[in-house]
Amino acid sequence: MIVLVINAGSSSVKYQVIDPEEQRSLARGVVERIGMSGAILTHRKEGEKEVRLSGEILDHKMAIEYVLGILLSKNHGVIKDKSEIDAVGHRVVHGGEVFSGSVLITEEVMAEMRRCIDYAPLHNPPNLKGINAAMQLLPGVPQVGVFDTAFHQTMPKHAYLYGLPYALYKKHGIRRYGFHGTSHRFVSDRAAKMLGRPKEELRIITCHLGNGASAAAIKYGKSIDTSMGFTPLEGLMMGTRSGDLDPAIILQIMHKEELTPNDATTLLNKHSGLIGVSGLSSDMREIEEEYETNARAKLAHDIFTYRLKKYIGAYAAAMGGVDAIVFTGGIGENSSLVRKNALSELEFLGIKLDHHKNEEKSKGERDISAAESGVKVLVIPTNEELVIAMDTMQIVSQLKK
Ligand code: ADP
Repeated sequence: MIVLVINAGSSSVKYQVIDPEEQRSLARGVVERIGMSGAILTHRKEGEKEVRLSGEILDHKMAIEYVLGILLSKNHGVIKDKSEIDAVGHRVVHGGEVFSGSVLITEEVMAEMRRCIDYAPLHNPPNLKGINAAMQLLPGVPQVGVFDTAFHQTMPKHAYLYGLPYALYKKHGIRRYGFHGTSHRFVSDRAAKMLGRPKEELRIITCHLGNGASAAAIKYGKSIDTSMGFTPLEGLMMGTRSGDLDPAIILQIMHKEELTPNDATTLLNKHSGLIGVSGLSSDMREIEEEYETNARAKLAHDIFTYRLKKYIGAYAAAMGGVDAIVFTGGIGENSSLVRKNALSELEFLGIKLDHHKNEEKSKGERDISAAESGVKVLVIPTNEELVIAMDTMQIVSQLKK
């Protein structure tokens, strides 16, 4: 089976062609600067060199047409005919309270997704554009939606409700939804496999640390809490997002700096976090390069790891203990300093790193806990595209029955 995985953003479309039966990626790439001058398609067939093409790409439909073009091309392609694509799997950011798993996209599903736009005004509209474009360009090919929020729909009410008037939940759906669900699900499943134990008996804290970052408490296979909330702004401090703060600060800053709601949204989402504190960069590699020499870079790093440590403690308490901690995402997979600092002085919880293993520059899944550690510490590369392809295969094969 061949699944085209599409992740459509506001000005970009990421794609990957995956054979989910073999769990193998055939090609991947991204179209950037859609609707702007000098749009670029970067494409790589597995095992070959990256190619870059530029052109005028006005909208998401043109972008996906370009993608299909290169997938069919003689030199860089991986299919001979469009009909070889059996299904398309789409990443959809927000599934509200309606979607607790992946679904075949129908007219009704599209209508529900449009209703979720209110919750994710920046993300869901481009996701829908990607779906519409793929439906037009690949008519009759089943399309599946995989939601970032779905895995967290198992959270109990006391975890997903805020201390706000209950009517706001009923009227406007104000509650914690959580994000990165596909990644938290994937790495917690992999952790159970690595440990050779059923997930139904494990309490796992998963830390997805990329440009966006979130932690999740996964008790016996189900997400019972996660740090991102109504939007992906809450929780851990991130590259450009503030994470948790006193909500009164926002009102105060808006007043003092004469900011509109839009200005305040930009401040909290684009100019805060690592870049805001350090004044240097939102990129953890650049922060770490100056960790020893630049006090503000160190401060940004320290805030990042201190807050992560607090979430680890909180989730161990929420689950009545913890069996494994998983690090994933660009930072989680690569930064030994973040892992070391976030887990320092947590021996009282039974968490002990093997410092030598933590420092090893190896890639791939690995156990970096000390032999005597009661809690396993694992590094597991995430693979959200593979999950989307696998879910798509599962849903499409049920259709054929
Ligand atoms: P996204 O959330 O956009 O998918 P990634 O998961 O790729 O992003 O994570 C990007 C982050 O990972 C950046 O902050 C980057 O600096 C960080 N990162 C990547 N490699 C390293 C490394 N070797 N050491 C520290 N941080 C790293």
